[in-house]
Amino acid sequence: MESLEEGLYSSVSLVSTTELETQLNSLREEAKALRQALETEGQSSAQLKVRLERLESITSSLERELSWRNVAKSQGIWKSKRCSHAVTGTCDAWHINEPDKLGIPSEAVIETEGRKRVSVTKFPELCIVCPLYEPLRS
Ligand code: SF4
Repeated sequence: MESLEEGLYSSVSLVSTTELETQLNSLREEAKALRQALETEGQSSAQLKVRLERLESITSSLERELSWRNVAKSQGIWKSKRCSHAVTGTCDAWHINEPDKLGIPSEAVIETEGRKRVSVTKFPELCIVCPLYEPLRS
């Protein structure tokens, strides 16, 4: 099957960790600021309360994101085990030229015959929004 990498970019962005990373960075920054505020004399309790509420808000948002991500991942795992394109645990429907650009970890990339394929056993996230899913026939 020919490379459909261009079409895959938009699909994979649905499960990109970018948003989570952004929120995590916000959380780290806020925690750092809160720690500094606690160590700095002169910070009023009202200021600390605002910072704490901001931290709690980011944490809640992150928890929601992780919850949806876990739901999506469970669907990816389910599809990866039942797709006729991944009988060996490696998807033979897609070959991906630049897996790093899609956030696919290098340990999940298998190169055979000059083509890079993805072990969906190691990276079932690829299956989450894949339009090529075909159920195994018994
Ligand atoms: S669902 Fe898509 S990515 Fe997953 S094994 Fe099947 S064809 Fe490959």
